[in-house]
Amino acid sequence: MAIEGTVVVEIDRCKGCGLCIEACPQHVLDFADSKVNIKGYRYVVLTSAGCTGCTNCAIVCPDRVLTIYRKKEA
Ligand code: SF4
Ligand code: SF4
Repeated sequence: MAIEGTVVVEIDRCKGCGLCIEACPQHVLDFADSKVNIKGYRYVVLTSAGCTGCTNCAIVCPDRVLTIYRKKEA
């Protein structure tokens, strides 16, 4: 049974520190191309499928920007 996850980013709270990108074992987080949030920071997005919902990114984020959801695939 595979576990599929996804990440919801509160874009305007992200300060672009990149800690979550480094912490992701699946390498599915990156900065949005040429875009900034309301504070002028580059922000993080989920770039591809493959998130397992491990929560590493949410744990390391200093500003609690990321919320993880998981679902079980039969
Ligand atoms: S929950 Fe885990 S696999 Fe998914 S984006 Fe965050 S660190 Fe990567
Ligand atoms: S760790 Fe948090 S504040 Fe830093 S880039 Fe990731 S989502 Fe943004």
